[in-house]
Amino acid sequence: MAKGVRRAKSHFAGRLEFGNEVELQMHHGRSLDVIVNADILHAPWERLVEPERFAVAQLVAELIDAFCEPDLALPEVYALLTGVLSAVAASNDPRALVPRFSLRLLSSLGVEPPIDACVLCQKDLIDGHAWVDSQAGGFICARCRESWRDLIELDAEDVRNLADLGAPRGVARARVQARPRVAAAIEEIVVHHLGRKPKAAS
Ligand SMILES: [Zn+2]
Repeated sequence: MAKGVRRAKSHFAGRLEFGNEVELQMHHGRSLDVIVNADILHAPWERLVEPERFAVAQLVAELIDAFCEPDLALPEVYALLTGVLSAVAASNDPRALVPRFSLRLLSSLGVEPPIDACVLCQKDLIDGHAWVDSQAGGFICARCRESWRDLIELDAEDVRNLADLGAPRGVARARVQARPRVAAAIEEIVVHHLGRKPKAAS
């Protein structure tokens, strides 16, 4: 809780903007902790406020908020958040950052879909077609697919694109863009884990 933050004379004014990384001093409150001091570490706000970037930053914030428990420190997710907000603030196509961010968030939480094998029969997927079966927890092969189910189909190129997107940080091909069906597939898996479509996605 930031008391008086909306007052023009508040010493918090400008420090607690959305997306700012700040060092806080807080008092333990009964339900919410009360901020008594805030020092800015990093303030991407001026660049985040552009509509496209702001929409993506909101989506990033909503997903992290929804997937993470309060009071549980997740340093890997924190690093992912600060990294992706900086990338969004610097990007002319911020929406393109969402699929890889989503995969890395799922991976940090231990629920990323395996991208090299069918989740049902463990058969190799690379260079083969795959279908998105979010209920099964990932991608399935042609043998396991039931033809009556209307699942997103990925071709071999899409499957390779997915593997590139899931590559660990620092791997040279990590800057690769998601192909449209791959972006849709990742979104569907996020929606499955979240139990709903993110509000910011609309
Ligand atoms: Zn299979």
